[in-house]
Amino acid sequence: MTETVYDFIIVGAGSSGCVLADRLSVSGKHKVLLVEAGGRNETELVNMPRAFMKMFGNPTYFWHFPIKPQAGRPAGEVWPYGRGLGGSSSTNGTWYLRGMPADYDGWAAAGHPEWSWTEISRCFQAMESYRGEDAHPTRGRDGPLQVTQLPYRSPAIAATIEAGVEMGLPRLGDINTPGTLGIGYTQASVDRRGRRASSYRAFLKPALSRPNLTVLTDALVEKVELDDKRAVGIKVRTANGTRIIKAGREVILSAGALQSPKLLQLSGIGPVEVLRAAGVAVQHSMEAVGRHLADHAMFSLSYRLHNDPGFNREFSGWRLMTHVARYYLTRKGLMAYTSPEVTALLSLHGRPDWPDVQFGIGPFSMRSSAEIKADPGRGALEAKPGITVNAIALRPKSRGTVSIRSADITDQIEVDANWWGDPADKAFMVEMVRLVRRYMRQPALKPFVGEEVVPGPRIESDEQIAEVLEWLTSPGVHATGSCRMGGRSDGVVDGRLRVHGIQGLRVVDCSVMPVPPAGNTNGPAMVIGWRAAELILQDAG
Ligand SMILES: Cc1cc2nc3c(=O)[nH]c(=O)nc-3n(C[C@H](O)[C@H](O)[C@H](O)COP(=O)(O)OP(=O)(O)OC[C@H]3O[C@@H](n4cnc5c(N)ncnc54)[C@H](O)[C@@H]3O)c2cc1C
Repeated sequence: MTETVYDFIIVGAGSSGCVLADRLSVSGKHKVLLVEAGGRNETELVNMPRAFMKMFGNPTYFWHFPIKPQAGRPAGEVWPYGRGLGGSSSTNGTWYLRGMPADYDGWAAAGHPEWSWTEISRCFQAMESYRGEDAHPTRGRDGPLQVTQLPYRSPAIAATIEAGVEMGLPRLGDINTPGTLGIGYTQASVDRRGRRASSYRAFLKPALSRPNLTVLTDALVEKVELDDKRAVGIKVRTANGTRIIKAGREVILSAGALQSPKLLQLSGIGPVEVLRAAGVAVQHSMEAVGRHLADHAMFSLSYRLHNDPGFNREFSGWRLMTHVARYYLTRKGLMAYTSPEVTALLSLHGRPDWPDVQFGIGPFSMRSSAEIKADPGRGALEAKPGITVNAIALRPKSRGTVSIRSADITDQIEVDANWWGDPADKAFMVEMVRLVRRYMRQPALKPFVGEEVVPGPRIESDEQIAEVLEWLTSPGVHATGSCRMGGRSDGVVDGRLRVHGIQGLRVVDCSVMPVPPAGNTNGPAMVIGWRAAELILQDAG
């Protein structure tokens, strides 16, 4: 029997990979194979947005990457990323932002004109279906990806928007208005029937019946097969053993910002010292593979909430059962979304068109992990009403690394997050804590916001705040940059996402972002898949 040769083999069915598989197979002209290490992810835990918290720690849905211990930081830091069809878009918080024109125009100005906002805005418009009343004219209405605005309204939540306006932020009917700071109701990758709109459900599922598209799940790609400096296929492990599958045109890595560089390094493409130490023969020396890893650091400050019960009591006992029943009867209510109710995009450094801080504001407050560990039966939320501001640093300067430690795909990689590698990041986050506090003192919030619970008002001086930030800061799980676009000496891929020096090999996922976007990364990852497909099909003639 002759083995099928696929025109395109895509490794990883995540945010980017599912979009890519859809777009490359839509014409029917090309044979496309999509290979995913995880399973099909067709479960209610994935589909019901609020069930997201129940998936944590479950290896069916998540990879877990231990982070290299760092002095001052709590031990045992682990980054979770999604596994199975949809990848991290099947396991994320569904908070939907597109990134700003300045992000994409910055990539274009750095020598990659393919990624200008003009191009990317056109792609988002084709991808999205957003029908909010105040939709900006750049929003798409009829694309495959349904985006909805969070429906929850209450006096306290309305006041959180007023407080932003009092601080000088524009009030936005559409939080995805390009090129402005602002505050408004959050949008989510949740469809109009209250189901998670993962890249699987939005893009891949409708394409599954195409005869030219094959999807392999539970199939772990071990490496890219090279013939001299050309990618000719992949080595893949399934329950039936290990085999080579051939690619006629291209192999495309969409395995995410931690695993695409891993696969390049396992294939002998990467920094010579990393490959040698791991016992992998060097096929192509490339310093930038696994370097320049960035994440959005974030923290949450919580406060007592007055004159509003908030959500803390809603997710246990009979109330939780009522919400679940309501969800199944109407596809509405608290189980139909998960991200914070309100989003604010702010600038500490004064650019009115390009935020450097993002807030997510919601009427809930979490117990500390120590409290949860000591008494897990009481759930993750505090007993008394609370309100939380989740604050994300959007333009970090520190960069970390991803390195293989052996030639075996099943061995853990070393991930060095290098938090505060650039001390300016810590100083910036101290300013962010003060910004959250200033926001919470705005007059509109006076009737609702009481004392600060975490970290508490006694943490005052810059030194105290900096110390607290060591344990208060957590990963944004927005890893980018580890196979970044750039030149031959400082990048991994060019503007068309072709790996420098290797024919027939591209990387298409968050790892190619030269600089992290000013917002969450799922929307940008999907648009990278969409735009990359255009570039790949142009190159294929
Ligand atoms: C817990 C969590 C919450 C988040 N919340 C939000 C949010 O609310 N909003 C937002 O915009 N972003 C959020 N993000 C970030 C966002 O979801 C990711 O940045 C984005 O989905 C990454 O897309 P990707 O295509 O680069 O990789 P992924 O979507 O991670 O896809 C990579 C895929 O490759 C597969 N794979 C890896 N290695 C192999 C191999 N060797 N063989 C075969 N398959 C392989 C993986 O199983 C996975 O399916 C969150 C992320 C996480 C993890």
